[in-house]
Amino acid sequence: MYDDNNVFAKILRNEIPCNKVYEDDYSLFFHDINPQAKIHVLGIPKTKCVDFLDFISNSNTKNVSIFFNNVNIVVDKLNVRESGFRIISNSGINGGQEVFHFHIHILAGEKIGAFK
Ligand code: 5GP
Repeated sequence: MYDDNNVFAKILRNEIPCNKVYEDDYSLFFHDINPQAKIHVLGIPKTKCVDFLDFISNSNTKNVSIFFNNVNIVVDKLNVRESGFRIISNSGINGGQEVFHFHIHILAGEKIGAFK
């Protein structure tokens, strides 16, 4: 069940500020408030979806396609196409998800360590 009071919903409604990297009608990409790498950007679709499976199952194909394609734009804005990056999406309790509006983490700017 989607909670309209989650922090990313508030960011989308401009109730909480964010340091924006890219925005269009479908998505918003912004810097994480507590970065885990030199570059740590979050990407969220503007549709109300709790997690990865909710997004890819219940959003229309155009939304899903544009959201993931926008990573291309963001990677160039961050200038990390050549140096590389890691994309993570946490789902549920075992996945360590804290904010229940689907999002991806883009980690870059340095060598990202091993998992866990
Ligand atoms: P999760 O653990 O749900 O995958 O990640 C949630 C992320 O949201 C965390 O990395 C956390 O630092 C980030 N975050 C939580 N609240 C805010 C906020 O108000 N602004 C921004 N920019 N990031 C936030």
